[in-house]
Amino acid sequence: MKYLVANWKMNSVDLDLWEKKFLKVIDSEKDFPKSHEVKLIVCLNLYDYQLFSKKIQSSKNQIFQNIILYAQDVSRYEEGAHTGQISSHYLKNIGLEGSIVGHSELRENGDTENIVFQKGLKLKEQGLSNIFCIGEDLATLESSEKKSFLLNQLEAFCKKDVEPNLLAYEPIWAIGTGIEADSENIKSSVSIINDFLEQKKINTSILYGGSVSVENIHEIISIPGIEGCLVGNSSLDGEQFAIIASKITG
Ligand code: PEP
Repeated sequence: MKYLVANWKMNSVDLDLWEKKFLKVIDSEKDFPKSHEVKLIVCLNLYDYQLFSKKIQSSKNQIFQNIILYAQDVSRYEEGAHTGQISSHYLKNIGLEGSIVGHSELRENGDTENIVFQKGLKLKEQGLSNIFCIGEDLATLESSEKKSFLLNQLEAFCKKDVEPNLLAYEPIWAIGTGIEADSENIKSSVSIINDFLEQKKINTSILYGGSVSVENIHEIISIPGIEGCLVGNSSLDGEQFAIIASKITG
């Protein structure tokens, strides 16, 4: 099984157009991977969620019907005076299946390793899945501290029965910049992550995120150990997202 995750962030997406363009690719691609070969996940805001989940439910297309919806963030708290936050309990009640945790844009806004862990815990308590994001910034890469940096992020999250359901390696310098990480860097990160997961007996799939596009998906998905991608900008267009999906084989 491979995975393709869309992160729409706070962008406005024309949902009708997205669906239309997505379906156009599916209709023209006879070999479009089946839902048991590639799992498609869209992480979206709660307003779009209400509209998009209705579209999914009423769709006659099986691939579109099988798109899974996740939130982009979750509160580390249960309930109470936490203005603007959304609890895992609420996410579950409205029908979302999980959430991203540890995205670098949230880490930049104050999510420490411990907060990311607490968010993972809250999802687990509700039986929801996480997509756990890790990745180094350029200064860490250049000072050869990538390994200890990634291990620290992994150690801080994988405790008290919390573990990644999907793990996205997203070097910060490659997110939204148009500069995708080179294969050697991705390979060395996959090896660091895999050694850790093996040691902890954690079974999860590693995804890559950072300027994935129609042009580079083939190269990225061919890297041993990469079992899918998390896509920001290129996921905002239904056609590009579907083309990327069509190039991920199961
Ligand atoms: C992301 O949002 O995690 C991401 C990888 O974005 P982009 O594909 O735009 O780099």
